[in-house]
Amino acid sequence: MLRNVAKLLLTFAKEATKGITELIFPDFCLGCGLRGELVCDNCLKEIKPINNPCQLCGAPQEGPICYYCRDLNLSFDGARAGGLYEGILRELILALKFRGRADIGEKIWQLMVKALPSYWQIDLVLAVPPHRNSLSERVFSSSVLLGAGVSHLLSLPFHHSILRWKKEVVRQVGLGRMERFRNVRGAIEVISKEEIRDKKILIVDDVMTTGATASACAEALKRAKAKRVWVLTAARDITLK
Ligand SMILES: [Zn+2]
Ligand SMILES: [Zn+2]
Repeated sequence: MLRNVAKLLLTFAKEATKGITELIFPDFCLGCGLRGELVCDNCLKEIKPINNPCQLCGAPQEGPICYYCRDLNLSFDGARAGGLYEGILRELILALKFRGRADIGEKIWQLMVKALPSYWQIDLVLAVPPHRNSLSERVFSSSVLLGAGVSHLLSLPFHHSILRWKKEVVRQVGLGRMERFRNVRGAIEVISKEEIRDKKILIVDDVMTTGATASACAEALKRAKAKRVWVLTAARDITLK
């Protein structure tokens, strides 16, 4: 059942918005305007991996643990991202999330998997749960689609419905760093605890800013006896101060 959902999503990602619309509305590269695809190979190469990431939150920096992580009690064991939330990668994520362009998912999850450290020995892939009211607005959840894609590339099981928002929370956009942590603290619950006990888990999302939501997911998973929790996002937004 769970595998079927992943498969269905991936088929959808391949087929979505293709076909006749392609003939009537051809795609132009979001980076350079070249006709053909939403991103051309040259512009895709512009997305650079994050070098020397903070071992905990994955932000680019010099030492092993960054300035923010020293003060925060992050519940996950490490985070990585496909690149910074800027330029062409940001454009691709926005197209995926708000223009329903599931067909570019594959390019994004390929970048994500490249950022995974080899010492993360993952048993199971989960997605950050979509907000309760967001699924009615959109055709699919980007975190679920990316989770399905990443698990497929890694040949790992994917469960899309183990985590759930326990209560409605204000959207993080517009909130400050500490407010974001307060906002989501204790807001996520684990539905089937047996599935994650003693497991090493990878949580997938589209963008990580402070890590507050990922940390709330990790906290719930750790309380339900998950062994390790790592986070992989398409992009890392480091613009919030
Ligand atoms: Zn281009
Ligand atoms: Zn850090």
